Amino acid sequence: MSRDPNCVFCKIIDKKIPSAIVHEDDFAMAFEDVNPQAPVHILVVPKKHIPDIHNIAITDRELIGHLFFVAKKIAADRGLDVKGYRMVINNGAGAGQTVFHIHLHVLSGRRFAWPPG
Ligand code: AMP
Ligand code: ZN
Repeated sequence: MSRDPNCVFCKIIDKKIPSAIVHEDDFAMAFEDVNPQAPVHILVVPKKHIPDIHNIAITDRELIGHLFFVAKKIAADRGLDVKGYRMVINNGAGAGQTVFHIHLHVLSGRRFAWPPG
């Protein structure tokens, strides 16, 4: 599985730096965001290093779909399907992406504005 040695999420996946892991399987990991923006703020990442949406290959389609399945499972386990939750992907620095390893933000536990800030 491809990793970028300079990528903070690849280091989390390889357990070279600690994180609060909430899910792990062969293809994906989910962990608590270190700087939570809501009472629930979990990041779901593929174990394969994909920098952003633009770098998704056609062969990654099942992997990307799996990230949504993992997010759904976490949401269901925590009752977020009842409370409501927001999933966000910031894509590109101009949209607020700061870690260039694709990730779903799963946010819940407060009201969210629309349009988003
Ligand atoms: P983004 O700005 O969409 O790229 O999101 C990156 C997210 O990663 C931010 O919400 C950060 O708080 C989070 N983050 C950065 N470093 C870590 C880390 N070591 N452990 C957990 N979350 C992190
Ligand atoms: Zn990475």
